[in-house]
Amino acid sequence: MERIHVTVRARPLSPEDAKSSPWRIVGNSIFIPNHSSKFEFDRIFDQDCKTLEVYEARTRDIVAAAVRGFNGTVFAYGQTNSGKTHTMRGSLTEPGVIPRAVHDLFDIILGKVDREFLLRMSYMEIYNEDINDLLAPEHRKLQIHESLERGIYVAGLREEIVASPQQVLNLMDFGESHRHIGETNMNLHSSRSHTIFRMIIESRDKTEDDNNDNSCDAVRVSVLNLVDLAGSERAAKTGAEGVRLKEGSHINKSLMTLGTVIKKLSEGAESQGGHVPYRDSKLTRILQPALGGNANTAIICNITLAQIHADETKSSLQFASRAL
Ligand code: ADP
Ligand code: MG
Repeated sequence: MERIHVTVRARPLSPEDAKSSPWRIVGNSIFIPNHSSKFEFDRIFDQDCKTLEVYEARTRDIVAAAVRGFNGTVFAYGQTNSGKTHTMRGSLTEPGVIPRAVHDLFDIILGKVDREFLLRMSYMEIYNEDINDLLAPEHRKLQIHESLERGIYVAGLREEIVASPQQVLNLMDFGESHRHIGETNMNLHSSRSHTIFRMIIESRDKTEDDNNDNSCDAVRVSVLNLVDLAGSERAAKTGAEGVRLKEGSHINKSLMTLGTVIKKLSEGAESQGGHVPYRDSKLTRILQPALGGNANTAIICNITLAQIHADETKSSLQFASRAL
């Protein structure tokens, strides 16, 4: 397996916050002078960096590899308001990793004249350990199944066949619009749920003829997951009680499991036959086929350098450094 690629992206600060920020970034390391240990990553993007640079650091390669048949997963991790959705979805003025990946995917495929492609997309959220289909809002509390033929899959999850980047992005907008239902506070909801945007890439060799003896290699299927994780802030800190506490503990559990799974993978546990606890959360179970084996994985750890969030930022950096 390729090593997990871990980058850090710091969001812009107000001039006052920038002035009082305790953090220093030097090359690929980040630290609080005389205070915390140094954290080092593959890349650190400061507040002046654009999403395009973040995308090009690794995701572009993961998209290209997905077309060649390798599963891939890219996560945005970080506390609420640290810029996860800005990084993954972006805005009209600054498209995120997802629209960039979708455009690249279609471009790459156009250039592969010797293969025939079928692209599908799905879009789901995990909220309180329930899997909801964002493309088919009536599909709620979906179950994870496993079969010889399909491997691990979410039963009943809609997979739309897509023929253009615009169609994919329209479907995403449709999915987003349905997350508002019953929610008085969209931000609160999105900070408590994980969303998994997925492209399924199926291709077949066009030049294949009747006397080709490697016909079992003829059809390739791979998946690309682009994941906007729930806010990593701890439930206790937000004074959570009751329902909120339950949500918080589910979020913590799945993020903790994700951390453990990624740590095990980066230590090579899987290839050495060790136990990787994919089954301990829905998130890791769903992503299992695109995390282990020869899948490509990248984490974009979103942080804020503001003084008041120093503890939270430190714990995000700790999470991200476990993956290295
Ligand atoms: P999260 O998804 O982690 O809760 P958001 O992506 O919604 O955070 O970001 C919170 C706010 O900060 C949004 O208004 C977003 O547009 C803005 N923001 C975050 N990162 C950046 C950035 N790199 N450049 C400009 N604006 C940003
Ligand atoms: Mg968000």
